[in-house]
Amino acid sequence: MAKKETSDYCSFCGRSDRDVNFLISGISAQICDSCAEQAYQIVKENLEAKKQTTNSGKLEKDKLPTPKEIKAYLDEYIIGQDSAKRSLSVAVYNHYKRLIQHIDDDVEIEKSNIIMVGPTGTGKTMLARTIAKRLHVPFAIVDATVLTEAGYVGEDIESILTRLLQAADYDTAAAEKGIVFIDEIDKIARKSDNPSITRDVSGEGVQQGLLKLLEGSIVNVPPQGGRKHPDQKMIPVDTKNILFICGGAFDGIERKIAQRLNTRVVGYATASQTADIDRDNMLQYVTPQDLKSFGLIPEIIGRLPILTHLDALDRDALLRILTEPKNSIIKQYLKLFRMDNIDLSFDKEVFEYIVDKAIEYKLGARGLRSIVETIMMDAMFTMPSDGGDKLHITKQYAEQQLASSNLDRLKAS
Ligand code: ADP
Repeated sequence: MAKKETSDYCSFCGRSDRDVNFLISGISAQICDSCAEQAYQIVKENLEAKKQTTNSGKLEKDKLPTPKEIKAYLDEYIIGQDSAKRSLSVAVYNHYKRLIQHIDDDVEIEKSNIIMVGPTGTGKTMLARTIAKRLHVPFAIVDATVLTEAGYVGEDIESILTRLLQAADYDTAAAEKGIVFIDEIDKIARKSDNPSITRDVSGEGVQQGLLKLLEGSIVNVPPQGGRKHPDQKMIPVDTKNILFICGGAFDGIERKIAQRLNTRVVGYATASQTADIDRDNMLQYVTPQDLKSFGLIPEIIGRLPILTHLDALDRDALLRILTEPKNSIIKQYLKLFRMDNIDLSFDKEVFEYIVDKAIEYKLGARGLRSIVETIMMDAMFTMPSDGGDKLHITKQYAEQQLASSNLDRLKAS
């Protein structure tokens, strides 16, 4: 009798066979269909997480994506920025190789951290995010603006590694082989060299703290991030093999580059060399020396040996960004409408109109989405209920929609 009772109940949730679809019997226990389903999900998620965090340990040379393959992947999502893409692809590839190297001779490949300089909204974060999708190592993005020196309001430098630990599901060994993207690195430039930075708790102290991470040392990381807490148990993380990619707009650095080039030109170069300088794209000439003039300390610059730049986006690049990338804004709207069985199409001149507005409002690539959203809002509101299976957007329609919206809202402040 007792045997009968247990056999009619799920050993996990306790529901009887009348309350479930069916029970699967084991030697001394039963599981109902919904517990089995849940168990399957748990197993799947755990295996997935484990695979992601431990893959770095199983990297094999012939399975590594080559720099060309990494760049080709980036090309699918990001328009232009060839120089940054190449540097990133090589750095990530070398990072993998360093992870699988056998140190059987005296040669130990050291890491080459990267710094990307480029105007805001030109794709630095997007590059980092896209590369993260292609990676087999834990990856974290952090913002340098939240970092402050110990003892001040803000986050301790070590919190950078908290994000990486979280991305690695607290698998320290995996995190120690990860990649960190530090955004807005220019915001911790030394104040004295960069009068535009006005806050007090910036600059050198934070850079010194960061240096410790970049150099490769064992850092005690607060598992939950934020400020360190005396009672908190710290996790020691060795940063020797963590690849750091830094990005920043470095507003005004063009002036420092121009100054340097002019001095050099006056001193040594010939007139033909002066003429060769492309004054519309000064960032391409950026050197570590310019970063120093901007206010980064030489020790930090020394730890970021690969310096690359991103180009400002011109009209043509914005047009391409709107439609070409695999995940382009227009493709996203086509999909949104397709899900309601609405065939959405655009006149080509609508794209040009959108780009012109983004330029007029000084919104850059970030503004493209808000402009398209404004144009599509009415249709997205009415069509799902009012019906219709076709929507063709003409320039006139786009103009009307933008005119009836609060245009100033979109303008850059
Ligand atoms: P940054 O980090 O340089 O300030 P982001 O990477 O955050 O700029 O770019 C903002 C947005 O602009 C991105 O989400 C993307 O939609 C778009 N974007 C910027 N640059 C590009 C590019 N080169 N190719 C494709 N999209 C881009």
